[in-house]
Order: sequence, then structure tokens, then C-alpha cells
Amino acid sequence: MPSLLVRNAAVVVTMDGQRREISDGGLFSRDGWIEAVGPTEDLPSSADVVLDLPGHLLLPGLVNTHHHLYQTLTRVVPAAQDAGLFQWLKTLYPIWARIMPEDVRISTQLGLAELALSGCTTASDHLYIFPNGSRLDDQIEAALPVGVRLHASRGSMSLGESQGGLPPDSLVEPEAEILKDSRRVIEAFHDSAPGAMIQVALAPCSPFSVTEDLMRESASMAREYRVRLHTHLAETVDEERFCLENFGARPVAYAQQLDWHGEDVWFAHAVHVDEEEIVQMADSGIGVAHCPTSNMRLASGIAPIRRYLSHRVKLGLGVDGSASNDSSHMLAEARQAMLLSRLRASLSEPEEDAHPLLTARQALEMATLGGAAVLGREDIGSLEPGKCADFIAIDLNRIEYAGALHDPVAAVIFCSPLQINHVYVHGRPVVEQGELVNLDLRSVIESHNLAAQRLVRGG
Ligand SMILES: [Zn+2]
Repeated sequence: MPSLLVRNAAVVVTMDGQRREISDGGLFSRDGWIEAVGPTEDLPSSADVVLDLPGHLLLPGLVNTHHHLYQTLTRVVPAAQDAGLFQWLKTLYPIWARIMPEDVRISTQLGLAELALSGCTTASDHLYIFPNGSRLDDQIEAALPVGVRLHASRGSMSLGESQGGLPPDSLVEPEAEILKDSRRVIEAFHDSAPGAMIQVALAPCSPFSVTEDLMRESASMAREYRVRLHTHLAETVDEERFCLENFGARPVAYAQQLDWHGEDVWFAHAVHVDEEEIVQMADSGIGVAHCPTSNMRLASGIAPIRRYLSHRVKLGLGVDGSASNDSSHMLAEARQAMLLSRLRASLSEPEEDAHPLLTARQALEMATLGGAAVLGREDIGSLEPGKCADFIAIDLNRIEYAGALHDPVAAVIFCSPLQINHVYVHGRPVVEQGELVNLDLRSVIESHNLAAQRLVRGG
């Protein structure tokens, strides 16, 4: 792979240990690994490929920590537009039951393309339904050509309606098959090496759709292979009630009883947690995928982000599945995180008043370094020598930023979220001049719309 020189960027946001922001800077990488970051005048003067970026902001690639890419096929379904989580799920389960392997493929490509255009260089997905012969393989094979790093979670549901769970029996799998397939996909696809493009995690879906046995067995297998563990937790008051009634425990305690604690665990949402649960999560190193848009869309609640930060809980951002967002825009999510946290500040109890308002730079850190920590990646999330050359560049000369250039770093969070001009993963272009490099987007959209129409109409 050639060497790459990025130079003359107006500002480089490093997210390094000192959180340096470097004026008129860039980076130099070789074989996808950063060798130098600094002012342009201190970088090598030539390379095999040179990217000149005057007037651009240069940032680490954004990291999405929670998504269900297949849900891009069921955005804005009328009957699910105005429902809370449980009713929303019950409306969509029968539609999702019609998903075919090719639907997993096309939605993966469309969702990853949308993420890439919004600056995402590493995406975590949680696929927990496998109808009609679909496999995690379909997602991983479809993702590879896009050029974005993928953490593919082998999700699962095993507790059907007849057993007291929420999903229909037709969408759940026998636990022995789930565990067998989990082992197979870890062995086939998980790459633990630095710079990995594909990693696999195990992800039973939620307290109301899997058994305690499956949670325990998944944790045990994840530890055997040193892969990560992911689930939805403490998303809604309904779920909290389900945990108290069925397990006699609050959500975090329920998870801990099943060996779901430690650095290798991350929860999506974690909205309804008390102070004790926050301390438990901080002490055990559990990470959170904060999904503010989804939490608003489904009227789930407002996660205590400033409390998580003050307890040093690992915190990343997730756009969540596209049926509850209904977008996959990472900068938009960072903006929502900042704004929603400020709304909570206006509503919260007196003990939270001591925390300062969430800043644009904190939101940006969640979207980069924070997400990398949640996914257990030390090789991404900041621009520093020794890390992967995963970076994005935004042209600041746009109407949306006019009048905001006294602080261009904060502007990308405060102002309207935009498409990113350049996205590189491991030193390779994924988006150039605002266009995807590896996909014919028009034909992906066309196929995706046909698939969505077929699924939703049931024909
Ligand atoms: Zn989710």
C-alpha cells in the first residue's frame, strides 16, 4: 500500500492524550498506519499519494457503536411511526420475518454507505434475526466491498411469545443452534489483530427476548474466544418492569448475575439506570452505546450522559437501527447527544446541576475515541502515530458554517449535520469529494427500495 500525505488542513483534531487541535496540519501514513501527525511544515514533503486539504477540518473517523442495518428497509412504516418500543417491535416483527438473505445484503450496503457519507469509518451492527436462511455471512460479505470496518454482532432471540417473551415464536431460534452458529461465525470471521476490518461479537437481543441460560452461555463462549458481548439494556420503563417482575432485579443487576460485567461488555441505551447501576458499570468497565435519536423517537427516555462522564463510564454513540431513527448520520447523532443532554439538564434532579453542560468537543469525543473504547479498539479513534489512518475531512467553506469559523471544531456539532467530503479507512479512500468510491450508490438505492417495498407490502 502506498504512503499517504494529508496536508494543509485548516485544523486537525487529533483526540490524542492532550486533545491537541493543530492549525495548518495533516498526517503521514504508510500501509494504512499513521507515522506522523502535526503542522504541515513538520511532515514529510512528499508521498505516493498527496491529499491537499486547505479550508478543511481533519478529524478521526467516527465510530458507530450500535445499529441494526437491516432496519433501513423498514423506515417510517406508518403503523410503527407513533409507537413506543414494545408496540413498535410487535408491529415490525412480522415484516422482518419476511427478510431474505439478499435483503440483509442490500440493507448492509445501503446503511454502511449512509454511515460512511456521514463520516463513519467503523460501524458496529447488531443482527439478531435470521429468517429464511439469512446468515451473518450475508452481512459480512456485503460489507467488505464498502471499505468501512465492521463489528458484526451475531445477535439472537430465543424467548418467543409462548414462553413469555415479546417476539413471535416464528422469529426465535433454538438455543443450541444459536450457540453452534455463534461458534462458527467467530471462527470464520473474527479478526483480533490490530487494524482488523472485521470483528465478531455475541449479542443476545434483550432481556425480554432471550433466556437467562442463553445470556450465560453467550458470555461463556465470548470469553473462550475473547470476543465482545453486546445487548440492549435499560432502554425503557417497560423493560425495567419486565426485569423486576421476571428476574426480581433491576437491569444491570440482572446482567451482572449472568456474568455480563467487565471490560468486554457494552450495552445499547442504558437510559433507565440508577446511581448504583452507574457505579457498577463504571467499576466493571462496561461501555454504553448512547442512542439519543432512537430514545427520542420511541419516547424511551433521556440517558444520564453527564453522570456517565463524571463516573468515567466508557461512552460511545449509536445511530441505532434505522426503523427508530430513521437515519444513519453520525454527525447528526453527535449533535443530538449534545442537545438531548442539555434538555435533561433542564429537567433533572438537583444533584445533576453540579455537572457542566455537555460540550461539542465532548460529543465529538464520544463519536470517536469514546466509541473506539466501547468497541475495545486501541488502534482507532484518534489521529496519532501507531494508529490506523482512519480519518475524515470536512470542507468548512459552506453555508451551514458561515459565521461559525471562529470555532470550526465546535461548528461541526452545533451547526446542521452535513455529508463529509473525504473519508479514509486504513489509508484507503471510501468517500472522495462527497462521493462513495466503492459502490454505485444509485443502483444500491434502487435495489434497496424494491426490497423495502416487497417486505412492507408483504408481496
Ligand atoms: Zn438497537
